[in-house]
Amino acid sequence: MVPSKASVVIVGGGALGTSSAFHLADEGIEDVVLLDKGPIAQGTTPFAAGQTGYLTVDQDLLKLNQYCIEFFERFEERTGYPICFHQNGSLRIALTDSFRGGLEDRIKVAKETGDEAELISHERVMELVPELRLPSDASVLLIPRDGFVEPKSVAVAYAAAAAARGVSIHTGCAVTGLEITDGRIHGVRTAEGFIESQWVVLAAGAWARQFAGRLNFELKTVPVRHQAFVTSPITGVTGQEPVVRFAENQIYIRPYEGGLLVGGYGYRPLSFDMNQFAKDFEIASLESDPIYYQQLKHAASEYFPVLKTSVTVQERRGLPTIAPDGRFVASKTSQVEGLLIASACMVGGIFASPVIGRAIVDAILDRDSGLPLESLNADRFGSNYSSDADLRATCESLYANHYRRES
Ligand SMILES: Cc1cc2nc3c(=O)[nH]c(=O)nc-3n(C[C@H](O)[C@H](O)[C@H](O)COP(=O)(O)OP(=O)(O)OC[C@H]3O[C@@H](n4cnc5c(N)ncnc54)[C@H](O)[C@@H]3O)c2cc1C
Repeated sequence: MVPSKASVVIVGGGALGTSSAFHLADEGIEDVVLLDKGPIAQGTTPFAAGQTGYLTVDQDLLKLNQYCIEFFERFEERTGYPICFHQNGSLRIALTDSFRGGLEDRIKVAKETGDEAELISHERVMELVPELRLPSDASVLLIPRDGFVEPKSVAVAYAAAAAARGVSIHTGCAVTGLEITDGRIHGVRTAEGFIESQWVVLAAGAWARQFAGRLNFELKTVPVRHQAFVTSPITGVTGQEPVVRFAENQIYIRPYEGGLLVGGYGYRPLSFDMNQFAKDFEIASLESDPIYYQQLKHAASEYFPVLKTSVTVQERRGLPTIAPDGRFVASKTSQVEGLLIASACMVGGIFASPVIGRAIVDAILDRDSGLPLESLNADRFGSNYSSDADLRATCESLYANHYRRES
């Protein structure tokens, strides 16, 4: 049974909810409760590619990303729980002049921060990723500190480390409502009873906006479908390859269990209103968009010809949430006192999860951690995007141009 009282209740056991739980407990906050309607990491989290690209020219985002990369680098040593972090590096590829500048800008940032990033020859590319075929004028930036994690292992490790620090985790326990009086939270209603609490963290992934809507407050983040596929093992793929990212055609490719995991942006973006699904809908049953997969495979095969004859052994898809400025949401909201939101990671919620957890703790403790967390404020949109159609169109467009925007 759930406890009758908690200091903080977290709704959702994906990457964001479990990171929040870990960060709260790691600060010594007692009586934290985490609830998920299913098992831990059963939403969008297990379907992610888990890339950890941290080097960006956006100075605020860079500081947040630095927190994340350092957190991942130390997590297993600190806690004893593995997150399967493969720091194989990444190759950022620019095929045209309009994207070459983005590579140069990253080299400058790396110099300023004391990190490594260098343009490499095509011979070196062939050594690192023998399956990759590039036009002779393509520019390739190697970022050695990048890599990927296994996303499910991240949420599972956070949950285990949080439980070891005293967090009470209840799976198969849906939150059915919040008790709000005079604009302040007093607790949550669950399938197993009421929990009195002054703080609630809404980390319900794709369901967060629907949940907010039922309580008559506005959450301006939208679930947008993202898909990737995995091939059967390919001769020569060792698992040591860096992640490969193309700016122009917005494709990413990384090794996965002897084969390749391929994903991309811009292919038929589609947002969802969770009210259109049945109450017991699960992310695992999200319908496939076969044309998306065809277009993605076709585009990636141009640079990875081995994909033409490869067999798809797994389709991965989920509903990451997106805010209309493409930035994260992790803060209190002025709409309901005691409520915090952890959402909108622009298809980067695994990598962003450490700093989201950190932002949640800082908000509850009302302290300044020195990180630029103002840009994560849930109330920053004010009355903008109050039309659902406008909000969804903006988020779909951001999603469709994700790599081009950040390059
Ligand atoms: C194909 C694909 C590739 C991706 N690649 C990357 C990548 O390379 N790098 C990266 O960082 N990110 C990537 N992402 C994005 C990443 O998966 C998401 O940003 C992240 O998983 C979001 O985590 P979350 O905790 O917000 O949501 P979720 O994992 O969906 O968790 C939400 C949880 O809330 C629970 N819940 C909902 N409602 C309730 C309720 N009423 N009561 C109790 N529990 C509730 C759900 O059961 C669920 O477990 C990718 C996503 C996809 C689909």
